[in-house]
Amino acid sequence: MGAPQAFTATTDVGHWIGGRLVPGTSGRQQPVWNPATGQVARQLALASTAEVDAAVASAKAAFPAWADTPPIRRARVLNAFLQLMNQHRDTLAAMITAEHGKVFTDAQGEVTRGIDIVEFACGIPQLLKGDYTEQVSTGIDNWTLRQPLGVVAGVTPFNFPCMVPCWMFPVALACGNAFILKPSERDPSPALFMAELLQQAGLPDGVFNVVQGDKAAVDALLAHPDVQALSFVGSTPIAQHIYETGARHGKRVQALGGAKNHLVVMPDADLDQAVDGLIGAGYGSAGERCMAISVAVLVGEAGDRIVPKLAERARALKIKDPMALDAEMGPIVTRQALERIEGYIELGVQEGAQLVVDGRGHRVPGLEGGFFTGGTLFDRVTPAMRIYKEEIFGPVLSCVRVHDLAEALQLINAHEFGNGVACYTSDGNAAREFARRVQVGMVGINVPIPVPMAWHGFGGWKRSLFGDMHAYGEEGVRFYTKQKSVMQRWPQSIAKGAEFVMPTAS
Ligand code: NAD
Repeated sequence: MGAPQAFTATTDVGHWIGGRLVPGTSGRQQPVWNPATGQVARQLALASTAEVDAAVASAKAAFPAWADTPPIRRARVLNAFLQLMNQHRDTLAAMITAEHGKVFTDAQGEVTRGIDIVEFACGIPQLLKGDYTEQVSTGIDNWTLRQPLGVVAGVTPFNFPCMVPCWMFPVALACGNAFILKPSERDPSPALFMAELLQQAGLPDGVFNVVQGDKAAVDALLAHPDVQALSFVGSTPIAQHIYETGARHGKRVQALGGAKNHLVVMPDADLDQAVDGLIGAGYGSAGERCMAISVAVLVGEAGDRIVPKLAERARALKIKDPMALDAEMGPIVTRQALERIEGYIELGVQEGAQLVVDGRGHRVPGLEGGFFTGGTLFDRVTPAMRIYKEEIFGPVLSCVRVHDLAEALQLINAHEFGNGVACYTSDGNAAREFARRVQVGMVGINVPIPVPMAWHGFGGWKRSLFGDMHAYGEEGVRFYTKQKSVMQRWPQSIAKGAEFVMPTAS
């Protein structure tokens, strides 16, 4: 493969409403940065309530015809979109790298995992099949079907500007809804590009809209009476705010929040594999993944054997221009995030953790203005420390020492987050016990980042998810549809007159 082409657009970023690009009119703007250079790349329009209203009105007008379109024809549009996504995978990946900073090869993986969901959504005729019972009573049949909700919205985080929107809109559209996406302010371009691809695929104008913006746009969506449901992915305090406010406005809400994911290394684990798992999951995407591993739980003698290996690998990470094909880690998304992460490293030192590798102050030649930091490794971290309790969301791996599996489980189950977890072991019974007893939504056995495949659904437990349904998979189909039950009989089979008691099967 030759060198991939970088994304270098400089034009202002606006909204996508009613099937066309619409410049912002609110007068409010915010810069979009290139984290690798540390320079402003372009300006982003921040939507006002009036602009959100226009998007909702456009979606509401487009909804009835789209909902009436047979599922197989909706699936054909998604099939065409799937092909376009595959064709433009590298364009999308370069956009992600330019605005987010993750390495290009990782961005390609992100797009592929988004495409998986589009592929899943193409099976919507099968997924929407209802249940039918003949003869529930004499001459009466009963069936259940699922119908779309109407206008639904998605609010997404910076760390997966393509994949996380794809957790939502392909399933929502396949089910017959109209969709409004409010992407992260940090990396808004993939959303607009996917809007164009949906139009090329034949999606009627107005069925998919993008509003750029911040809290003002989100609050307008939350309060809007024509928005039936809202899917959110982001940090826990905002997830809780969205869940509570959405519920107060009578909306269906799923709100996925933050994480602190542990990886347990048992003494019988293959230590080289465990090191690979920890390094990739701890420092990949600069730790800015909700499924990143930020805590290594080292059981018994595994600790002394693994920490030197981790230190050696953390020091050797290839941190460079994220478009380079051999780059392992790129910059942090913003200067503010970089300062937060390096502040946590200072805090860890003050709290008494042992700083084994200090990534602060890392410079990349030629990219001196970029928001880079190196991989940081702490040992002897304890559960009372803030660097253990709080989500750092950066390339900082904390090692906690425990005596046995029971203590590891106790530690993990006491944590406020419950998104992902992993256990490395060669003992089947330990693995089984771990998977059964751990209070976390997504579990990996010798798999460091167990992000479920498109047809299994994604979601954490505890304060990592507010709501009843996980994202995508069959739970996604249930979230974006409401069930209707129909009971039917025909005049020829009506034997009785008026009934004044609760009908029972006869
Ligand atoms: P964030 O919570 O700051 O922002 C997420 C979205 O909410 C953005 O679209 C943003 O514009 C909007 N927003 C921000 N402040 C708001 C407010 N006060 N009111 C209404 N809307 C607001 O999160 P982020 O920094 O973009 O993303 C990182 C966070 O997302 C981390 O905590 C990470 O763990 C989490 N995350 C979770 C998952 C998951 O599946 N559980 C997946 C990806 C990211």
